Amino acid sequence: MYKWFRMLRHMFCAGLALLILVPPAAAQDEDVSLAGVIDFHTHAGPDSRPRSMDDIEAAQQFREAGLRGMVLKNHFTMTGDRAELAMAQVDGLEIFGGVVLNRSVGGINPEMVRQMVAFEGGRGKVVWLPTFDAEHNEYRVGPDGGMAQPTPDDPVVRVLEDGEPVAPLLEVFSLIGEHDLVLATGHVLPDEVLAMLPAAKARGVRHVLVTHPFHQHATIEQMHQLAAEGAVMELDWFAVHRGSYDVQLYVDAIREVGAEHYLITSDFGQRGNPTHVEGLRAFIAALQDAGVSGEEIDLLARTNPARLLGLD
Ligand SMILES: [Zn+2]
Repeated sequence: MYKWFRMLRHMFCAGLALLILVPPAAAQDEDVSLAGVIDFHTHAGPDSRPRSMDDIEAAQQFREAGLRGMVLKNHFTMTGDRAELAMAQVDGLEIFGGVVLNRSVGGINPEMVRQMVAFEGGRGKVVWLPTFDAEHNEYRVGPDGGMAQPTPDDPVVRVLEDGEPVAPLLEVFSLIGEHDLVLATGHVLPDEVLAMLPAAKARGVRHVLVTHPFHQHATIEQMHQLAAEGAVMELDWFAVHRGSYDVQLYVDAIREVGAEHYLITSDFGQRGNPTHVEGLRAFIAALQDAGVSGEEIDLLARTNPARLLGLD
């Protein structure tokens, strides 16, 4: 009897020592719940860039993982119609699309936006300003489809002229306001965004999503200004995954400006990268490990994207 007691006591002490010596385990990606999560930056095929899966496969994976929704983004063509087709194939998921105003759709082209909102299904919800064709973007898509250094001769899509929004952009703002769309800022510089926001608001734009501001080298001061203007800023996992910066940069910004002003996205879909679902799980696990609270993660991954899309 006593022998048993001694053995149990030893086991108890050893267990206690283990508890004290072993630090709490890091959040495991597979334990992360994606229930209710919306990915506002989902790349999928068909595309002119190499993608890891098509829209339908992405939607199926999202539904299996319990996500609430996705926003399909393509740099060169409209995705509102594709979102409608994917919704018809995969039940139980909110799928949205939009259009990026690069040269392939005529640049800042109000007629493109007018057509998008008229398309059956009404899933075209986001208008992104130019990305690869933005005047100050760091790289261009070369003739072979790969990334190339910009040259002064590259055709670009300008959003401002003498510091003021170009005339067709004002028309685009009116359409965004009229149809309650989201103005996403693409690869336009933070100062350009700040310069155009008064005109956008005057024309009824209510939802502004600043596309990955760190990629455009936004300072904390600019992010404070964007937050004060009511803009939500996107933090993407792709940039952390490829090593452009550490997730701590995001955590510091969330601490400094507030989780209510940000949302998180995968920006995945590149061939060779993990899936969107894996990216989002890794993102949330990394935020948890860095001490971001459950309430803050709810804002970043669930509430803020839903609010911009008019859900709830
Ligand atoms: Zn992207």
